[in-house]
Amino acid sequence: MDFQARRERLRKGLKKAGVDALLVTDFTNVTYLTGFTGDDSYLLVRRDGETILSDPRYTTQLEEECPSVDLNIRPPGVAMLQAVAKVVHSAKVKRLGVEADSITVGLRDQIAEKLPKAELVPTSGLVEQLRIVKDKDEVERLRRAVWQAEKAFAVLRSTIRPEKTEKEVADELEYQFRLFGAKDASFPSIVAVGPRAALPHATPGRDRIGDDDFVLVDWGANDGLYCSDLTRMVVTGKISPKFERIYNTVLEAQQLAIKAVRPGVTGHDVDNVARSYIAKAGFGNRFRHGLGHGLGLLVHEAPRLAVKSDTVLQPGMVVTVEPGIYLPGWGGVRIEDDVLVTRSGHEVLTSVSKRLEDAVIG
Ligand code: ZN
Ligand code: ZN
Repeated sequence: MDFQARRERLRKGLKKAGVDALLVTDFTNVTYLTGFTGDDSYLLVRRDGETILSDPRYTTQLEEECPSVDLNIRPPGVAMLQAVAKVVHSAKVKRLGVEADSITVGLRDQIAEKLPKAELVPTSGLVEQLRIVKDKDEVERLRRAVWQAEKAFAVLRSTIRPEKTEKEVADELEYQFRLFGAKDASFPSIVAVGPRAALPHATPGRDRIGDDDFVLVDWGANDGLYCSDLTRMVVTGKISPKFERIYNTVLEAQQLAIKAVRPGVTGHDVDNVARSYIAKAGFGNRFRHGLGHGLGLLVHEAPRLAVKSDTVLQPGMVVTVEPGIYLPGWGGVRIEDDVLVTRSGHEVLTSVSKRLEDAVIG
């Protein structure tokens, strides 16, 4: 991945923000700009270069993961704050940008105290606005995370048994995508049987897969950097007319919304396509979360597809499209895919079948 190019783009942002340097304290932003996957490390990006500030636990990993970045490894006994002050001072930074959404008030005050001659300038979104549009390498990594999640789901489908608990199925699913190369789950997997599927963020418990007619599975793989996120329904019993009606409503809403994904529309526009379809079908107050979110190094990041999102979609953005209908006491249906905005419209990165017939397992 071309981390150097990302830092160059950030430097242009520094100029615009009127700062000499940016102290990147958000660890995900540090990863984005350097490839370093550890934590407890900050990155100082100056107009003419950059330095990672870390400690001896990470020396070897830093040399491996980001050989092109200057390292400042503070010896034991030297606090991060002292190291920051020293590096900022010797770089003669007058206006130091800090990440207002990440730095603590305590650290900001301490830096200000240590560097009375430097002015601390709060900035917001300088790195995040770069992260929102994925480059080619990032899209490849996202494809890999999708592939790992989908392979694991295929195994799950062929091995799922009615006597297994939600928790067992969730654990097996996560084990499977690790076997396919994932480092971790993007988020704790959701496996929710029948009425428990009415909770959009249900925690897998002791309910058994065969306790009701259907199961909601929401899962994603982290390939080591990038996250996928999918939801499918698995039908283990009979398809009731009610389930079929709700499933088809959610599916149609989702397909219409995916069709609406293209450059130039806002997150609100896409959300509204699904929301108004579900409302017309009579379930308006049963779809109470946003339609989707961006995917990248984090499983939830910009842009949002939501009622209040005025973000204009651009090629390279990757979003989930995940409408749902939830009826307390009965259950819920959600269908979620990962979608790349392309120059001509969109490409759906996920490919697990959504046909109701295919949701049924023997
Ligand atoms: Zn999800
Ligand atoms: Zn999601």
